[in-house]
Amino acid sequence: MTLTETDGESPRSGEGGSLSPLRSDRVRAVYSGLLTAILDHRLPPGTRLPEDEVGAAYGASRTIVRAALQALAHERLVIVEPNRGAQVAHPTVEEARQVFEVRSLLEPRAASLAAGRATKADIATLRRHLKQERDALAAEDRHRAIALSGAFHTRIAEIADHQILAGFIRELTSRSSLVVALYWHRQDTMCERHAHAALVDAIGSGAAERAADLMRSHLVDLLSGLDFSRQPPQPRSLAALLGAR
Ligand SMILES: [Zn+2]
Repeated sequence: MTLTETDGESPRSGEGGSLSPLRSDRVRAVYSGLLTAILDHRLPPGTRLPEDEVGAAYGASRTIVRAALQALAHERLVIVEPNRGAQVAHPTVEEARQVFEVRSLLEPRAASLAAGRATKADIATLRRHLKQERDALAAEDRHRAIALSGAFHTRIAEIADHQILAGFIRELTSRSSLVVALYWHRQDTMCERHAHAALVDAIGSGAAERAADLMRSHLVDLLSGLDFSRQPPQPRSLAALLGAR
């Protein structure tokens, strides 16, 4: 370990420097644990994330926890307020609409690029991903199904091989998971399997325009599944949430 943690008040080495906030494996482990729990809805929007409780859950020091929380704040999944600590972000209706609006601008382009660039191996990867989504649904593993449906969109952006686009889409897809946790009212998980299967077919056959159209209508469909009049569920304690699988 190259860490210089003093479990408390050491200066944040990420500030003012170019060090990655995920500078150590231990930060990465806490970051990944929280990220997964946020994306698959075990930690709903608004959940408070006290440094000591997060530290206890992951066996990590406050310095490590703080760095992981800062990294999540950078991706707008966590809000860190000076005297109130950290909590899982809680997108407003307006933010939710904007997230989907920007997705509907960017993702058709990613799908179209992916159709032009996908290799046989990429298509095989997407098909394996579809199977994982089906398996998670069949096993009624809702948490996994939610996380996989978001990851499908990120994967298409990666195949498009456009780093800037992929970066935005990764962030927007993550934030969509918070939006869905708050405002989704359908019984099914976030993404229709059929929509994903049709997208893979279009990308696999190099049909760029069709892939873009399918992605656009898929996102319109997702937006129509959101109910902005819904009362968000009450947050529960962190310990109960991280223990609940
Ligand atoms: Zn989808």
